[in-house]
Amino acid sequence: MIRAYKFLLRPTVRQAQALREMLRDHCSLYNGALQARRDASRTCPSCGHAAKENRFTQAKFQCTGCGMTANADHVGALNVLNRAGLALCDVA
Ligand SMILES: [Zn+2]
Repeated sequence: MIRAYKFLLRPTVRQAQALREMLRDHCSLYNGALQARRDASRTCPSCGHAAKENRFTQAKFQCTGCGMTANADHVGALNVLNRAGLALCDVA
């Protein structure tokens, strides 16, 4: 029953475009930009090396380029902040 109405949960093209514009406007208020989080937790914040192998386990990040290790979630969050120009701290 729920499955039959699942399509109703998807935004229409017009709604998706409106949401995108609203997000862009909101980001411009905070001097930010919309960004993709592609490879955010696979990219080394130290050397910039991006590889699937950098994600040692689900929780552990280990750069195959420079050997830096850190919590994968922390690395992902740091990369998102770096891309937005908002980096506040180094990886612990
Ligand atoms: Zn590295």
